Amino acid sequence: MAHGAHHSPLLTPRPDLELARECEMCLGWGTVVTRDGDHELCRTCQPLPEDDEAVARPDA
Ligand SMILES: [Zn+2]
Repeated sequence: MAHGAHHSPLLTPRPDLELARECEMCLGWGTVVTRDGDHELCRTCQPLPEDDEAVARPDA
């Protein structure tokens, strides 16, 4: 139970799988795993917002 700054485990980015389909970077997942083990949107195929942390929408 010594987990430090773990952000939101449930906050997985939602990629557009249509865009990711032919992407060699993420192999169709639309997300890539960072060195920290977090998932983030694939920068190759997914349109990223300008601000990384500005994407805070309530999940409808
Ligand atoms: Zn991709």
